[in-house]
Amino acid sequence: MQEDVIKLTLGELDFDPDELKAKYLAERDKRLRDDGNEQYIEVQGDFSDYVDDPYEKKVAREPLNDTVEVVIIGGGFGGLLLGGRLREQGFTDIRVIEKGGDFGGTWYWNRYPGAMCDVESYCYLPMLEELDYIPKNKYSFAPEIMAHTQNIAKHYDLYNNACMSTEVTDLTWDEKEEYWIVSTNRGDRMRARYVAMANGPLNRPKLPGIPGIDSFKGHTFHTSRWDYDYTGGDASGGLEKLKDKKVGIIGTGATGVQCIPHLGEWSGELKVFQRTPSSVDVRNNRETDPEWAETLHSGWQYERMDNFNVLVSGGDQDQDLVQDGWTDIFRNLTGIAAKEASRKLGRRLTSAEKGKLMKMADYKKMNGVRDRVDEIIEDEVTAEALKPWYRQFCKRPCFHDEYLPTYNRPNVHLIDTQGKGVERVTEKGVVVDGVEHELDCLIFATGFEVGTSYTRRAGYDVTGKEGKKLSDKWEDGLKTLHGFTTNGFPNCFFLGFTQGAVTVNVPHALNEQAKHISHLLAEVRTRGEHTVEATPEGEQGWLDEVKRTSRFGERFRAECTPGYYNNEGKQANPNGFFTSGYGGGPIKFFRILEQWRENGTFDGVKIG
Ligand code: NDP
Repeated sequence: MQEDVIKLTLGELDFDPDELKAKYLAERDKRLRDDGNEQYIEVQGDFSDYVDDPYEKKVAREPLNDTVEVVIIGGGFGGLLLGGRLREQGFTDIRVIEKGGDFGGTWYWNRYPGAMCDVESYCYLPMLEELDYIPKNKYSFAPEIMAHTQNIAKHYDLYNNACMSTEVTDLTWDEKEEYWIVSTNRGDRMRARYVAMANGPLNRPKLPGIPGIDSFKGHTFHTSRWDYDYTGGDASGGLEKLKDKKVGIIGTGATGVQCIPHLGEWSGELKVFQRTPSSVDVRNNRETDPEWAETLHSGWQYERMDNFNVLVSGGDQDQDLVQDGWTDIFRNLTGIAAKEASRKLGRRLTSAEKGKLMKMADYKKMNGVRDRVDEIIEDEVTAEALKPWYRQFCKRPCFHDEYLPTYNRPNVHLIDTQGKGVERVTEKGVVVDGVEHELDCLIFATGFEVGTSYTRRAGYDVTGKEGKKLSDKWEDGLKTLHGFTTNGFPNCFFLGFTQGAVTVNVPHALNEQAKHISHLLAEVRTRGEHTVEATPEGEQGWLDEVKRTSRFGERFRAECTPGYYNNEGKQANPNGFFTSGYGGGPIKFFRILEQWRENGTFDGVKIG
């Protein structure tokens, strides 16, 4: 019966699923390691240079010892959206505190050549209608995105009173006065009625714990702190100072895929040290058609965001407005495909049939990705090494049209480590399989810290009522109501990947969060009260819901090749990237929030 469903939907299979499954598991097993997440080095102490801000000089200022109504920590999309929505609710006394020298968040730090959003810009860049702005391309490049973040800040007057190049070092609740005391590395000691932590999910660069990593005598930096003084050029490329340099890069995730084409174009010689290849499909970026932009009517962006969100959550829509690699994957690998099969069959699919269909569709999709490698790469050995052997959502899918062709350049060499990773770093370069590769410059595209405790990644602890530390409360994982508030920490809010639903279009989720938090604060103000906090029952209810809904994902990720999605192959981690998320998907999650607001009963929180 399952075979009928598959034949009807996918046609005759031209591959052996058992063979593919065995290959996937063998490739995963090659990469499993006992140290899991512990393989990475925390960027501090001797390694702290890797996180210095290379873009802006700190401007001297006197420490602040004042009072504001709302402190927002983080000037990326989360902080900006919350600031904007609070302004719309009439909040005037807002201060954004940002580690970087300006607004932008991830787009402030990630200025590497080729950086761009990989969700369509008309959905990804928030508040386009509010700012009356249309992005220049279907996928925007980093400088345009950073400029947009700054325009949002100007539009909502968030530069006013903001503290840039400032890191929060401590948050402590003053129970008597009902204020937060916010301390920073600039000697500030501010009082804030409310604090919102919009720290970002991938905000701390990490380094691989490769033996000898600190012995390299050449030049080195992490992609999120690109050294243009050394390479020349800018985010659009033109790295002319690399022309006579031997450059090495470790890491072939979403970041590596975007910057390697520029390094390949400009370096005298480029060696890419690969542990696991990414899945790289067609990008097809293009300039915005001004005639299309003319046709857009009021409300167009939210309609488009909703349309995209439904499709990438496995739902059906009459029309696919975005029509890109993301919607293509989801159309083929989710409930939409199952719906199509059940229409053809004239009955509903059993869950076993559905599961099998998704698996076969995934194999088929990934065969297409691997065929693309063969079509583009001239050298057979290199082509084999660039083929990803895992299911599509085991790692972040990538889309790029220049990445694979880069390996056809005579100056570019793929050094495949067969899943083992780089063996050693020496004074002169990098050792793989006993061979030393001499380099002038070694670039780390090794991603960001994931899977460690929330407060460690934030860089400060939070002390709530009765001196309770957030790090202690969340030692075994997050505990919140809807991801926003936690009992014992009044007037403290969280944005980002706390316990809500994960979406492909992250700013969409942040906007829903910002709307929700500002609604809550407006209610507290309307009631003439000063505090709001999750009740223990509200928190427990949401925790149960999160646990109930997250089981499927865990089973799926257990068979995946290691990466930050599955806690480097070691599933049990209360702080894992997906461990604490609501598994019912963003559509259901946004509806839960909307209904909660409409209800007006404020279940699960205590106000006043
Ligand atoms: P990732 O964590 O995705 O990738 C890190 C890379 O470093 C992997 O290829 C990893 O290999 C490799 N690596 C780690 N240790 C070693 C080692 N010892 N030897 C060799 N290789 C090693 O980081 P990225 O910065 O690429 O991306 C992080 C996330 O940021 C993305 O998943 C995405 O969510 C986001 N992002 C989004 C972009 C966009 O929207 N345009 C662009 C860039 C990033 P292995 O796979 O084997 O672990």
